[in-house]
Amino acid sequence: MIIFGTKGYLYQLAILTLVCAQCGNPAAHTLRKRVTKFTLFFVPLFPVSTKYTTQCTFCGAEQKVTGEQAEQLQAQALGGGQGGQGYRQQSQQQPYQS
Ligand SMILES: [Zn+2]
Repeated sequence: MIIFGTKGYLYQLAILTLVCAQCGNPAAHTLRKRVTKFTLFFVPLFPVSTKYTTQCTFCGAEQKVTGEQAEQLQAQALGGGQGGQGYRQQSQQQPYQS
C-alpha cells in the first residue's frame, strides 16, 4: 500500500509597507510563500506548486503575486530595511488616515 498526499508549507519572506489595493491604507503587508509538496509515506519529496501572496495587516486582504513580483518586493524590503550605519533613507509615509 502506497500512502501519498500533499503537505503545505508557509514561509514569511518579508514585511513591507505598501498601499493596500483593498482598503487603500499604506499599511504593513506580509509577503508569504506557500509551497505545496508532494509526500510519499509522509515524506515530502518535491514541491508541486509555489505561490506567493501579500497580506494587508490592516484589513487582512490577501493578494496573489507572481514569483517575479515577490522577488522584487523582497529585494525592496531588504534594500529599505538595511541602510547600513550612518546612512538611513527615510521612506515617505503619509500620516493621514481615513
Ligand atoms: Zn488593506
